[in-house]
Amino acid sequence: MSEEKKVLAICPRCKGNGYFNNDIQCPQCNSSGWALINKSQAYKNCYGTYESIADKGWEARAIWVSRKE
Ligand SMILES: [Zn+2]
Repeated sequence: MSEEKKVLAICPRCKGNGYFNNDIQCPQCNSSGWALINKSQAYKNCYGTYESIADKGWEARAIWVSRKE
């Protein structure tokens, strides 16, 4: 069995912020905003960046908000 390929994606825990509430460091990505996740759990967003599939709803909301501006 081969090891699953990992990709560098926007951290699913802090959504790429690196911090929670601006001062609490994210333990998953070491506050870098990027985390390695299994490729099967990732998808490429419209910017060509990997994101966790679980965050798809979050990205859709972000686009929706930016379209309103
Ligand atoms: Zn994080």
